[in-house]
Amino acid sequence: HLTIRNLKKSFHSNVVLDDINLDIKQGEVTVIMGRSGCGKSTLLRCMNGLEQIDAGEIYLHDTLITKRGSNDAHWVDIRKRIGMVSQSYDLFPHMNVLKNMILGPMKVEKRSKKEAVQDAVRLLERVGLSDKITAYPRELSGGQKQRVAICRALCMHPEIILFDEVTAALDPAMVREVLDVIRSLQNQGLTLIVVTHEMEFAEKVADQIVFMDNGKIVEISTPRQFFYSPQTVEARRFLNLPI
Ligand code: ATP
Ligand code: MG
Repeated sequence: HLTIRNLKKSFHSNVVLDDINLDIKQGEVTVIMGRSGCGKSTLLRCMNGLEQIDAGEIYLHDTLITKRGSNDAHWVDIRKRIGMVSQSYDLFPHMNVLKNMILGPMKVEKRSKKEAVQDAVRLLERVGLSDKITAYPRELSGGQKQRVAICRALCMHPEIILFDEVTAALDPAMVREVLDVIRSLQNQGLTLIVVTHEMEFAEKVADQIVFMDNGKIVEISTPRQFFYSPQTVEARRFLNLPI
């Protein structure tokens, strides 16, 4: 599980995360929602050390992962355990799908090429992309690229995966195929933290919905409560419900 306590983060005088407290249980799906600029991406980035926090703590199980002065090796290690997939795929354009996938396991996890390839092929099969193993990112559709990006995160055998609006740039048909893959991960005991605007997905899949407004968490609830009887004015506005 992941525990966030009194987390604060500013960019210059702009307070972007203001006293964030959040508990994420193992094996659960947490969906984070909120208006553009409310701090969702920054919160995810703090969880795997892509942003330095100003105050507060983040614990993975009972280990404090945001210790001051942690070196790069520490964060490389944490990012093995907390993977991230973002909107922009982040695949290396000059490498084919397989190469993109085996790079991390071989470099960071020091696994043999044979083992890394086996693992990659197995994962690609699972998301229906076995025929794209030697394709380059430019030869893939947005949905296919995003499924490769998810497989690449899975190659590192993380405990937690952070998804930052992974369907935002996709056509509706592709949104579905990517969301289906994310859903299938839920059944494998992975802990998922998903920033998305896909309401239907959130309602069906989330164990908890975290609603943020202006750098604060203003509501943490079940999907049922969030979508049908949100407690705060901010959430009601966000959902276009009468106030
Ligand atoms: P969106 O839904 O548009 O992706 P978001 O909720 O993910 O929005 P963030 O990207 O976390 O929002 O940004 C929160 C605030 O922090 C915004 O005001 C943004 O301008 C600011 N911000 C984010 N990254 C930086 C940065 N590197 N330097 C300065 N300000 C930043
Ligand atoms: Mg964002």
